[in-house]
Amino acid sequence: MKGAQQTTLRDAVAITGVGVHSGKPVTLTLNPADDDAGIVFQRVSADGSIEREIRADVRAVTATELATVLGDASGPLCSTAEHLLAALRGLNVDNVVIEIDGPEVPIMDGSAAPFVDALDQAGLTSRALPRKYIEVLKTIRVASGEALGELRPYNHGFRVEADIEFKHPLIGKQSMALDIEPVSFRRDIARARTFGFMKDVSKLWSAGFALGASFDNTLVISDDRVLNPEGLRYPDEFVRHKILDAIGDLALSGHPMLAAYKTVRGGHKLNHAVLSALMEDTSAWRVVEAKPETKPAAEPARRIRGHAEVAPALAAAAYGPDVS
Ligand SMILES: [Zn+2]
Repeated sequence: MKGAQQTTLRDAVAITGVGVHSGKPVTLTLNPADDDAGIVFQRVSADGSIEREIRADVRAVTATELATVLGDASGPLCSTAEHLLAALRGLNVDNVVIEIDGPEVPIMDGSAAPFVDALDQAGLTSRALPRKYIEVLKTIRVASGEALGELRPYNHGFRVEADIEFKHPLIGKQSMALDIEPVSFRRDIARARTFGFMKDVSKLWSAGFALGASFDNTLVISDDRVLNPEGLRYPDEFVRHKILDAIGDLALSGHPMLAAYKTVRGGHKLNHAVLSALMEDTSAWRVVEAKPETKPAAEPARRIRGHAEVAPALAAAAYGPDVS
């Protein structure tokens, strides 16, 4: 019953790139970690010594403007973590220690695909303890102007439903909904890039953001066309990237979620607000463990709505046929 135990990396793997906001080079190294370690960021100095350590957690979010920033009382530790977090969650990596030698996770090509490649290079291995999940027990909704974010109970794993609407001929209204597991994440979400409007770039630059942004890491749109020479990777790449961001932001729950998340015109700020509202209402969620292997996979009880335990088949589905 693959997939019901916690996973980590088989080997360490290093990634080098630039921060999209700082424009500065940064190296991060993904390392294997023990059961129940979660996703841990370590800021390391030039000589490799550990300066600070933060567990990726909703309480560690210190800013959500343009990117999700993780830090603590002594200040921010790293920003733009969401695409890396999405790759970790999308591929079902439970435990990892991420060493980073700068203030920003490298933007790479603006998607999660380079992190997926790195994780594939490192390989995954299952550990002894069962995977833990955050099971959402009741609906949590946050509305802000025309934006809406909603987490609700969902018995079949983790699902994201996204609607976006931009008054732009290339984007307009886009909707997508899918169950997130490694096959669908790799195929439908991982390659969708960050996007931005050319007219906003000068504003970002004057505010000290996006100094590393280029056609190599951002889908840039003018009034009527995509400026990147290679064009779009998916016809609806924009809504797919919104789903990618939501997966990364919700990874800060600390465990994979058993929930459906709906986002309408949302972004990092809304994702963070919904997850914070969920965490604050301790009657709205609980931590459950994947069942031990001794249970027969075809046990009919697992189909009962609201059943307290996570059936092995649910976790194992990550390796099964794609049904999205
Ligand atoms: Zn993003």
